[in-house]
Amino acid sequence: MTDFAFSPPPQASLAIADSAQRFPIRRVFCVGRNYAAHAREMGNDERDPPFFFMKPADAVVDAAGEIPYPPLTQDLHHEVELVIAIDKAGRDVAPENALDLMFGCAVGIDLTRRDLQDVAKKAARPWEWAKAFDASAPIGAIVPTSHDRTGNGLIWLSVNGKMRQEGNLGDMIWNVAEIIAAASRSVALAPGDLIMTGTPAGVGALQPGDRVEAGIDGIGTIAFSIAPRD
Ligand code: MN
Repeated sequence: MTDFAFSPPPQASLAIADSAQRFPIRRVFCVGRNYAAHAREMGNDERDPPFFFMKPADAVVDAAGEIPYPPLTQDLHHEVELVIAIDKAGRDVAPENALDLMFGCAVGIDLTRRDLQDVAKKAARPWEWAKAFDASAPIGAIVPTSHDRTGNGLIWLSVNGKMRQEGNLGDMIWNVAEIIAAASRSVALAPGDLIMTGTPAGVGALQPGDRVEAGIDGIGTIAFSIAPRD
């Protein structure tokens, strides 16, 4: 047994629907923009190819209970996203084989400190401080599926009962297979990897005390609250 200088951190993990087992998380890849209407609302050309950024594995938390309002921001935004869970290794995977790597799907939120992201974009700096903070990825239980059950379906998010985001997975610029294939050209995908696939239009600010609900047809719903500021 390796003699570590101190106890290794606990393994980040997510619930699996209808299972006592949990899904151990290795890395979290996120697609920057993947719905034409959201690309437009952020002032970008919808024909741009997809790009990726990352969150640390332990930024992922179960989407339940209270999620902390993070420090350093006055503009915490919600982005509801389809999350792909990978349980097989693969590199340079062709789109027609990409779904073989998939363990299942979940509903997740890419929480974003939008004010810090705006500063980073203007200064051509990395996005990590805007995207990779603690508890920045509340994600629901993973629904096992070995095929793309997500081709068409409503993806939505409401705050305090008011609909904020309403899109359709069929409007993704790059579909699930293409996203897995694209990621596998950059890194060797491995069991435990998650991919957050981008958000539809309607992103907006969350306040302490807000109740967030979100869902994707055929996958499920999540609900949590934003905790009071420390
Ligand atoms: Mn996002």
